[in-house]
Amino acid sequence: MSLRIYEKPLVITDSGGKDSLVCRELVRRAGIPYEVVHSLTTADAPETVYYVRDTFRSLEEQGVHCKIIKPMYKGKRTSMWSLIPMKKFPPTRLKRYCCQVLKEETVKDRFITTGVRWAESIKRKESRGIYENLTSDVRQKLILNNDNDERRALFESCTLKGKRVCNPVIDWTDRDVWDFIRSEHLKVNPLYERGFYRVGCIGCPMAGKRRWMEFRLYPTYKQAYLHAFDRMLEAMHKGESRVKWKNAQAVFDWWMEGHQIEGQLRLEDMDTWRQANHEIQEEENEQYEEEPKPWQHNL
Ligand code: SF4
Repeated sequence: MSLRIYEKPLVITDSGGKDSLVCRELVRRAGIPYEVVHSLTTADAPETVYYVRDTFRSLEEQGVHCKIIKPMYKGKRTSMWSLIPMKKFPPTRLKRYCCQVLKEETVKDRFITTGVRWAESIKRKESRGIYENLTSDVRQKLILNNDNDERRALFESCTLKGKRVCNPVIDWTDRDVWDFIRSEHLKVNPLYERGFYRVGCIGCPMAGKRRWMEFRLYPTYKQAYLHAFDRMLEAMHKGESRVKWKNAQAVFDWWMEGHQIEGQLRLEDMDTWRQANHEIQEEENEQYEEEPKPWQHNL
């Protein structure tokens, strides 16, 4: 479909995480032409950056075209650190503008493959499918939830370009993903061996309480966020918007949902982090109660 509609190979969007790794392996085994892209979020852990570079080097040696895309916003190069002052509020669970700019809009007019899975959130179960045709006109959006969907012929024959997405691991559970990685001896991002459940930006609001430990492991990222919050407050003052925060630290405390007493710095230890990880995962996986927890595979 990618060759027919776009006259170009399928693009695998690779975040450096376990789900992208499985997608890469499935597409490689399918024997179809493909390319791999990674969108640099500028807030990824160094391990992810090196892992992606190594992977791409070895794929290039095998003749696979790979590209690391540097993010653009309003026609200019951007980063997490410049987006925050531009948007005038920090990224949150409900307003993940960073993902939209730094990850989702980087590949245009191509058929892409992602590692999205229903097991990651209940919302995804309702809004994502194995095949998706996303057009600017929401009424024409087409999402197929299974391979035998009777609308598949429509999806395949329609030559309207829009954004076409294939999610080959949409119905895989965490266990499926880890079993496949272990049994096929695939080289995974080393962050998982450090106890990370998911690989995203350091400080990603979706990581909730896990961010405390992330900032303990990567204190320079905390400084980078504080610096960005400083510049965000400056931009807010200039724009005369109502500023509710006194300084960058106050923004950080609010953003971390830490509810500390002003001036008090709370440090979480490893046990607390593991406990938080456990509780969050229990919540997220409540419909997959039978599954072993990911850190049981990793640690
Ligand atoms: S992974 Fe998290 S922090 Fe990074 S771009 Fe996406 S929402 Fe933003």
